[in-house]
Amino acid sequence: MMTTKEFNPDNLSSPNNLAPEQSEALCGFESITITPNFEPFNQPNDMFCRGFWDNKIKNKMVSKFFRSFVKPNERSRSADGFTPRDYALRNGPWVVTEMLAEMQKSEDRRDGFWDNFTAHIPPKLDPVPIDDPEQAANEVKKVAKVYGADLVGITNYEERFNYTGKFSARTMSNEPIELPAGLTSVVVVAKAMNYDLIRTSPSSTASTAPAIGYADDAVILLAMAQYIRSLGYIAVACQNDTNLAIPYAIKAGLGEYGRNGIVITKEFGPRVRFGRVLTNMPLQHDEPQRFGVTETCKICRRCANNCPPQAIDHGEPSDYTFNRSNIKGIVKWTTDAEKCFKFWVSKGTDCANCIRTCVYNKDFSKRRFRLLRWMLGTPLRKLALIIDDKLRLHDQLAAHKWWGDKNVEATPIVWAEDHPIDPEKVANQQRVKDLRTSVAAPSH
Ligand code: SF4
Ligand code: SF4
Repeated sequence: MMTTKEFNPDNLSSPNNLAPEQSEALCGFESITITPNFEPFNQPNDMFCRGFWDNKIKNKMVSKFFRSFVKPNERSRSADGFTPRDYALRNGPWVVTEMLAEMQKSEDRRDGFWDNFTAHIPPKLDPVPIDDPEQAANEVKKVAKVYGADLVGITNYEERFNYTGKFSARTMSNEPIELPAGLTSVVVVAKAMNYDLIRTSPSSTASTAPAIGYADDAVILLAMAQYIRSLGYIAVACQNDTNLAIPYAIKAGLGEYGRNGIVITKEFGPRVRFGRVLTNMPLQHDEPQRFGVTETCKICRRCANNCPPQAIDHGEPSDYTFNRSNIKGIVKWTTDAEKCFKFWVSKGTDCANCIRTCVYNKDFSKRRFRLLRWMLGTPLRKLALIIDDKLRLHDQLAAHKWWGDKNVEATPIVWAEDHPIDPEKVANQQRVKDLRTSVAAPSH
């Protein structure tokens, strides 16, 4: 066992044979290109883990932030969206995820956060023969949907997307991740988050949407893994743990990568949570899909303009990394995770402005929004962005409006910034990047 002082997040060397020899656009998307400098991500570098070991991040406010998920009084206050009822609303669904995380505590496991879900293994079974991977894939998708998934896609397993190490705050250790041999496929499930709640971001009210998403996702993943095991195949259910969700979601055809650092789905925009089940079941894989997100993000800055701490990249995709929480060796839009997390801590709850204000955050069951999405996939996208600015659906809805209060004196709507480039914000961010780069590599 290591103490905090001794903890070394870099104790594990990353496998050096997982970077491509030449730059490789993931599924042909130029907005996410894996370069020969790619290094697999190490879990202790995740912001939530750093809140436990990194002196640059951990402090009393961070501890209060974490504690508030079970002790709402730590951060509740009189501000609209942060009252005891808002924290109570947010913390309700977290009990499901938290209970699952605590179940294997004695084994130093935190299922769903730092460890994949512990297998509940049925009597050992011989695998049910599968002659038709397409039919098997269709059945898996049908089962995932009946268990509650909103979207399902399947792709091939890739070792390079595994985390290098597994973090434990209890033992302050970073151990290699052990996975069964023979994995071939990844079933990616997506659960949509509540549209109306997200409209109140940033607030504890809005944070209820991911809280519900986590709980739903965990139930679907556990059920899917048990279903696959019951057919005699390996199933490893992963949520925040074990591997990167983004490349698998893109490869499985569930969406495109956006400037906000989130996979944007055609059906729900960025308003989704992704889970993965790794398996050796013979399954047909899906194709990635393209509907114009990269092209839209090139001319839109809505999410970046509305990020309170200015953590979202205003520039072009690059391999620039803001800090150790960013993945090395991938050309993409990268978010400054430290700035983002520090803003969450200052607010006392997570933020979803980059979801709320995204042009693709719409209720696509409505025809007019499907039309808008179609326009965004054509040379009419500039016009679509102007129209969308005028709809004002990206403005923040005051939390008391969500609750339906009749007698509260408060501004019902907080105006958001629109999509055009803000030269001052771009210049400010570039100045910080230049400064950091010059400090990191002083001239001789
Ligand atoms: S969650 Fe909020 S703070 Fe973080 S990147 Fe998105 S908008 Fe910015
Ligand atoms: S708000 Fe605009 S730039 Fe940001 S992810 Fe959505 S479409 Fe892309």
